[in-house]
Amino acid sequence: MKCMRCGKTAYKSVTSEAIELGFGLLVIRNIPCYKCEECDEIFYTGDVVQRIEKIIDEAKQLMQEIRVINFEGAA
Ligand SMILES: [Zn+2]
Repeated sequence: MKCMRCGKTAYKSVTSEAIELGFGLLVIRNIPCYKCEECDEIFYTGDVVQRIEKIIDEAKQLMQEIRVINFEGAA
């Protein structure tokens, strides 16, 4: 996997995202990603992006003020 910003090698990693939903904050932990060794840019595969979107939709329906989700157990 090549970095889309600088073209260097991006390696497999995991990251966390904090997403502001308006009514509260959604935190997703242990999201599989690629991280550039050069510029620290983070990329997700299409599958991961779709799952993140699904997790956000579900969180919006639940309307909790703070929610922490472990990526591997969700969706
Ligand atoms: Zn890069």
